[in-house]
Amino acid sequence: MVATPQMLPNTDLPQNTEATNQSESVDPLPNQWQHDLKNSIRDIDELCHRLQLPAKLAEFEAVANFPCLVTESFLLRMTPGDVDDPLLRQILPVVAEYLEQEGFVSDPVGDLKARKTNGMLQKYHGRALLVLNGTCAIHCRYCFRREYPYAEEPKSFEEWEPTFQTIQNDSSITEVILSGGDPLMMSDDRLRKFFNRIEQIPHVQRIRIHSRLPVVLPSRVTKELLALLNSTRLQPVFVVHANHPAEIVNDCADALRMLVNAGVPTLNQAVLLREVNDDVETLIEFSERCVNLGVMPYYLHQLDRVSGAAHFEVPEEKGHELIRLMRERLPGYAVPTFVQEIPGEPSKTVLPRL
Ligand SMILES: *Cc1c(COP(=O)(O)O)cnc(C)c1O
Ligand code: SF4
Repeated sequence: MVATPQMLPNTDLPQNTEATNQSESVDPLPNQWQHDLKNSIRDIDELCHRLQLPAKLAEFEAVANFPCLVTESFLLRMTPGDVDDPLLRQILPVVAEYLEQEGFVSDPVGDLKARKTNGMLQKYHGRALLVLNGTCAIHCRYCFRREYPYAEEPKSFEEWEPTFQTIQNDSSITEVILSGGDPLMMSDDRLRKFFNRIEQIPHVQRIRIHSRLPVVLPSRVTKELLALLNSTRLQPVFVVHANHPAEIVNDCADALRMLVNAGVPTLNQAVLLREVNDDVETLIEFSERCVNLGVMPYYLHQLDRVSGAAHFEVPEEKGHELIRLMRERLPGYAVPTFVQEIPGEPSKTVLPRL
């Protein structure tokens, strides 16, 4: 158990965070990430200006409940002047989001039906998923939970107690998944409370964290966080989310290495996205970069058909072909499993469906 990280006075922060060279590996300060979060970009005009993009890209205002949001770190991995940048595509609100498309709905994966109790989804045997909080460090335009009713979920730690009771009363649950939103948006102190409470449930053996923060806000991966992950009797498993090789460089590569070096099994799930990663060379480079960092490709998801994301969809057949071509070129362990989440199924469905 480590001592509670103290909030450092601001004077301990690097004097000029804007100019910090993100690729030079330094251990992030315990509260640097909160500072970095505050510096996120929320304004499309500012985003276009920073990336030297034509102002007309900014003519569109994002839907109010899912505004433009991107961290400085993620922005620094984009190529200035490139309107087709694959990282930009993931976060830039576009007019196509407003077009209604048949088959694209607000809850494509049946989350609401899978809600067992407040804040808890259960679709699969042995695993309970907690929607710990509704915020993220970036807004991925294809997010399948972009319309999730986060406001209805428990707020204070005390309000989660009935959910812990539900897990306690079901001895088949051996793994608790912390998800959201992004669970690592919570402070270490708050996370520690969840860890401490969950580890009191004897039949729970593993705690899995689903977070995009090591990718989009690498300063979140601190020594304090790693110590926390390793301080519980539960086996931690970390699942990050990146989609393109240009995401997992510089400070992000450092953060992923920190996780791996701390002995936390780390997997990646990606989404197959049109004009982001829907070609074999990109996917191969991505997988190789993952495994070279010690991060194992886990899933490649066929897009969940959430309203506003139709322009990201890749035909499923193309996905099959991409996986086949990857298999011809990569070690078996570097080929992710191509899956789709079909509501009502007892697991993610491996594609092509048998
Ligand atoms: C995807 C998901 C899981 C995890 O599934 P794995 O195949 O074990 O990665 C668990 N619970 C819910 C509700 C999910 O949507
Ligand atoms: S980080 Fe995950 S939950 Fe958050 S917006 Fe992106 S896809 Fe959605």
